[in-house]
Amino acid sequence: MNNRKVIIFSAPSGAGKSTIVGMMIKQFPQLEFSISATSRPPRGNETYGKEYYFFDTPTFRKMIDDGAFVEYEEVYSGSYYGTLKSELERIWGKGKTIVFDIDVKGGMNLKRIFGDNALSIFIKAPSVEELRRRLLSRGTDSPESIEKRIAKAEEENGFADRFDTVVTNDNLDKAVAETARKIREFIG
Ligand code: 5GP
Repeated sequence: MNNRKVIIFSAPSGAGKSTIVGMMIKQFPQLEFSISATSRPPRGNETYGKEYYFFDTPTFRKMIDDGAFVEYEEVYSGSYYGTLKSELERIWGKGKTIVFDIDVKGGMNLKRIFGDNALSIFIKAPSVEELRRRLLSRGTDSPESIEKRIAKAEEENGFADRFDTVVTNDNLDKAVAETARKIREFIG
């Protein structure tokens, strides 16, 4: 039970969270990424079982009713995202620490569930202008989607102090080094 640890990453979209999470997974073989289920369609060359388990909305709703999720949220209107119970067992079964990339509300829920077995990390983007620039340069979101994500980001930044630790990503190398240090302390 002791080694059933989890690391929770939450951040406004565009804060660089996915980049940092990806680098942590590469750097620490003890970590494995929890693949969420979602009802949104795949973007670009995303594939089932890699970035997400993709389901249509009726199937996702059925899985909610069947109690398949530890937590789930309608992160954007009409788009569900959730953590599958089966995913936890899959990763812990290998003796690894689970890494979550999850929205702020979901992150706070998971912290409540896992308590001291969880390290919750909030990645903060430097400013709304920088956030808009990053989302634009990513080139995967429509203008409406970008504005939706920025509005959400401003709201989500207000929750930073509910996390165990906050890393501001104004410089990627620094943010990565700081995150790695916190993870090393936590997994021992
Ligand atoms: P995206 O559509 O950009 O891949 O993700 C949108 C948001 O959903 C991100 O903030 C991401 O962290 C969040 N998310 C991904 N998986 C889950 C999950 O399993 N549960 C919750 N609550 N949020 C998730």
